Amino acid sequence: MTASLIDGRARAERLRGEVAAAVAKLTAEHNIIPGLAVVLVGEDPASQVYVRNKGVQTVEAGMHSYEHKYDTSVSEAELLAQVDRLNGDDAVDGILVQLPLPDHIDTNKVLTAIDPDKDVDGFHVVNAGRLATGQDCLVPCTPFGCVVLAKDTLGDLTGAHAVIVGRSNIVGKPLAQLLLQQNCTVTIAHSRTRDLAELCRTADILVAAVGRPQMVKGDWVKPGACVIDVGVNRIPAPERGEGKTRLVGDVDFEAAKEVASAITPVPGGVGPMTIACLLRNTVQAACLRRGLTPPQI
Ligand code: NDP
Repeated sequence: MTASLIDGRARAERLRGEVAAAVAKLTAEHNIIPGLAVVLVGEDPASQVYVRNKGVQTVEAGMHSYEHKYDTSVSEAELLAQVDRLNGDDAVDGILVQLPLPDHIDTNKVLTAIDPDKDVDGFHVVNAGRLATGQDCLVPCTPFGCVVLAKDTLGDLTGAHAVIVGRSNIVGKPLAQLLLQQNCTVTIAHSRTRDLAELCRTADILVAAVGRPQMVKGDWVKPGACVIDVGVNRIPAPERGEGKTRLVGDVDFEAAKEVASAITPVPGGVGPMTIACLLRNTVQAACLRRGLTPPQI
């Protein structure tokens, strides 16, 4: 069997179109232009590219984009004061602090300072609690993107056994909550899980969110399973020339695609969904904050 490719780029483009339409409606009917503020600390090239892409896509969707850049030497107090200003700024519906932050800054403290109703990353403990208890909330973007792709591929997920490898607060745990809401039976695996390969072979939906290149082998995949690869890893690619690198996921794609029924590529799978879901969350936040019903996207 050769799996069908789950095209995250195309799906993200469609989602961005839906977001733009929702923004146009909000603007026309309520005179609201949602605003997304991104706080970036330091010069990390990957973060810079990511923040730039966010800004461009935010404006393309018809929203305001605000960037606040700081040198690595910024103090925690300065950063907290910036978050506080954004919390009080009525033009700002979503606040995103780009991670990672430098070691001298307590990331949890900064994330907890964000108004939960503007927490478009969905990392605030209040949103994590709301998600776990099934209340309306802002949902972490990457897990939301994974569920969109799984539902597009499989339709109703009820009763499917989902195995998620990885238990981080930003991917594994919120994804487990979202898949539970979809009536999956969910197993979360991690570095201390016994018989990981055997467990993965029981998955109808296998999600890898580990950060280890090509760790999930082809024979860990149940024939016909849907494989969602969240991992983004840069590995040497001497075949492309000296010093060259390439991106791979946490799944051995070439082997897994011979066994799965559908699989996300890396790049071009889950990755593009993340920013599109962030834009969606910004519209959600703009509506929820004003007591308006958020669009069903
Ligand atoms: P974390 O490092 O926070 O978590 C990794 C998880 O993998 C941990 O729960 C860890 O277990 C588990 N793990 C590590 N080694 C093993 C192993 N040998 N066997 C089983 N489980 C293992 O990573 P993140 O969740 O932040 O990210 C995971 C991957 O997803 C990364 O590649 C990251 O780049 C990518 N990512 C991609 C995004 C996108 O937009 N596409 C967004 C966010 C992340 P334990 O808890 O026991 O240590």
